Amino acid sequence: MSGETERSSRNFIQQIIDQDLAEGRFREVHTRFPPEPNGYLHIGHAKAIVLNFELARQYGGKCNLRMDDTNPLTESTEYVEAIKQDVRWLGYDWEDRFYFASDYFDQLYQWAVELIKKGKAYVCDLSPEQIREYRGTLTTPGRESPWRNRSVEENLELFERMRRGEFPEGSRTLRAKIDMAHPNLNMRDPVMYRILHARHHRTGDKWCIYPTYDWAHGQSDSIEGITHSICTLEFENHRPLYDWFLDQLGVHHPRQIEFARLNLTYTVMSKRKLLQLVQEGHVRGWDDPRMPTICGLRRRGYTPEAIRNFCQRIGVAKFNSTVDLALLEHCVREHLNRTAPRVMAVLRPLKVVIENFPEGEVEYLEAINNPEDPSAGTRQVPFSRELYIEQDDFREEPPPKYYRLAPGREVRLRYAYFVKCVDVVKDPQTGQVTELRCTYDPATRGGSAPDGRKVKATLHWVSAPHALPAEVRLYETLFTKPDPEDVEEGQTFLDNLNPHSLEVISQAFIEPSVKGAAPGTRYQFERLGYFCVDPDTTPEHLVFNRTVTLKDTWAKVQKKLQQQRS
Ligand code: ATP
Ligand code: MG
Repeated sequence: MSGETERSSRNFIQQIIDQDLAEGRFREVHTRFPPEPNGYLHIGHAKAIVLNFELARQYGGKCNLRMDDTNPLTESTEYVEAIKQDVRWLGYDWEDRFYFASDYFDQLYQWAVELIKKGKAYVCDLSPEQIREYRGTLTTPGRESPWRNRSVEENLELFERMRRGEFPEGSRTLRAKIDMAHPNLNMRDPVMYRILHARHHRTGDKWCIYPTYDWAHGQSDSIEGITHSICTLEFENHRPLYDWFLDQLGVHHPRQIEFARLNLTYTVMSKRKLLQLVQEGHVRGWDDPRMPTICGLRRRGYTPEAIRNFCQRIGVAKFNSTVDLALLEHCVREHLNRTAPRVMAVLRPLKVVIENFPEGEVEYLEAINNPEDPSAGTRQVPFSRELYIEQDDFREEPPPKYYRLAPGREVRLRYAYFVKCVDVVKDPQTGQVTELRCTYDPATRGGSAPDGRKVKATLHWVSAPHALPAEVRLYETLFTKPDPEDVEEGQTFLDNLNPHSLEVISQAFIEPSVKGAAPGTRYQFERLGYFCVDPDTTPEHLVFNRTVTLKDTWAKVQKKLQQQRS
């Protein structure tokens, strides 16, 4: 949304639009986002959403939301509602322009009749297999259907009877009459209508013939007065067909512009594969925080701001490429760093007893809520005789360069005191460390020593009697390979599923200030990462998702690249 990038460089789509406006081809900019309601939206759709709504915003135009619901077999209102929710959550408003391609079924039917009357469409009795066979290949021309030269009267009658439901599925189609030798296969008499005796989620049993995507899409854009039909590259070679339909009908003619779809490392983006992950139980549902769906990312703790920022940073291009997942995570970190309050949480607790702190007493220490945002203020954190620190922050025999706690060593507890480990309690059977005995130096309150002595580590901690138990879900990438489709013969992308993509920590401890936090609330757990309250949370049982760790691999790589360049 940065005004600066808007002015300083125009992407190729903006350049085309600028020119269209300058030449008077269009007087305004009207875009649309046209999902098919056959699955949940994913991060790739977010790219298309941001692109279309932001272009409308930049040019003072409009952007519609349209359900491209031409296939009754795979679509449902569940998906329709989820799509609306996701687009809204991303921060976009289609105002009163929410449409369905199925709203246009009558108009499309009339237009089909018009093409038949002009001798530009015909009813064909070839089976779907035969149609494929007759189509030819990239190197050989197709063959004309024996039904291609039916009279207009016969075509009108048969098409009407198709509509009335007189014929079984697959027995007939309506096809455009273009050119079976055309070098573009899409122009070889494409199918416009097929017979489907299926109930549609909106039109019910009114229709038993349904328009193909190719026949519906361009005309739907035309009906809505869309000026710029922005779509992904695989539709580039459908454009001549869309142009042909619109020219034959002589109706408003949007300009189609294709851009490269988003691919992300460690991510599958096909709706069919996402559905498979859900249906076969590889994830807990469409909104599993490991899914690249918008609802999954939302549950994970990603923010709309971060996703929008990501989509704008990657920009638009004419060639396909794969974006590093680390860049998306970097954008999430960048936003949460500015906005998420800091709290202390211990994921793998090790008990610490401060021997010289009086039993039963509590002291409240001031902690900064967000060093990046002074307006976030401070809070009071309880300190007592029994604390928890991370198991990882103690080593009985510290290796070189390990500066955290060890026997006889002193460290700082964040916002509290210097503490020194004076004894280690172990389980007599397993030899495992179960408790540390420490002393604290009351003169170091707030974290510095009046005598100027230094410590090399600062640890986070929680007060054991005050801390809230919580379940914490840690996530890794859903796939082990950057390209999940990179498989050996006989394998599928499912063979690349990461068996460690979810780790559940059943008893972590969190400082009491998070008590009552609503699902969706995001925090930085100091030194651990960003976390978000999961909807599974109840007043008795807190559940957190790890949104992202603090380690910014993308920023690190960029820094290295910069150093190499200079
Ligand atoms: P899939 O191939 O996963 O089924 P789709 O393209 O069929 O996805 P649609 O619901 O038709 O899904 O997509 C709606 C809009 O979102 C289209 O304009 C499409 O071009 C765009 N879109 C879908 N996937 C991506 C992606 N990965 N990157 C950018 N845009 C996308
Ligand atoms: Mg599609």
